[in-house]
Amino acid sequence: MHRVRVRVVEDALDANNTIARANRADFDRAGVTVVNLMSAPGAGKTSLLERTLGDLGDVRVGVLEGDVQGSLDADRIADAHVPVVQLNTAPGFGGECHLDANMVRSALPSLPLDDLDLLVVENVGNLVCPAEFRIGEDVRAMVASVAEGDDKPLKYPLMFRACELVVVNKIDLLPYVDFDLDRFHYHLDAVNPGVRRVLTSARTGEGLDEWREWLVQVAVRGRARV
Ligand code: MG
Repeated sequence: MHRVRVRVVEDALDANNTIARANRADFDRAGVTVVNLMSAPGAGKTSLLERTLGDLGDVRVGVLEGDVQGSLDADRIADAHVPVVQLNTAPGFGGECHLDANMVRSALPSLPLDDLDLLVVENVGNLVCPAEFRIGEDVRAMVASVAEGDDKPLKYPLMFRACELVVVNKIDLLPYVDFDLDRFHYHLDAVNPGVRRVLTSARTGEGLDEWREWLVQVAVRGRARV
């Protein structure tokens, strides 16, 4: 019984990877580099995007917003004058807690891919499932806020291991929370040794230049590949 279940999960992930490769081929054809941005709910993904995407130099950026329902985040991104498409997992996709390749594929016709260099996909807030589903992205990044606790890399290792960049956000709250930055770095290195990390506060603006620079580098790197 247990073995059958494992088999089903593997098949589902294989099917997802096949669609992810098709997405990736479409992105490559359009010359778009894709960042899959993940985090727990409330870590500050949308705030970071709001504060930085309007100012990426000559990089033309768009956003695909993943949420269970509603368009609150897409409305905020649209206010920054960045092209944005909202993708809801309810009701069409059963209210899933993550985006998968098929959901992203359903949104592709709505995205102005030919006019973009960089697409940021803001995944559904969740530290577990999003890390398991490739969507056709080039890179994965995550946001961990200091309000969540410094032990999270040990509790959700797959998420922290899957990412090329870890943004540590809300550092303006460090004096008020029991978050030990050294301990966080230590735990992070235990699951993803030496992974690049950027300390930010979307509120005060600290570290946002570095985050913005990383996005530009990712776009330039993608451009060089095409
Ligand atoms: Mg958000």
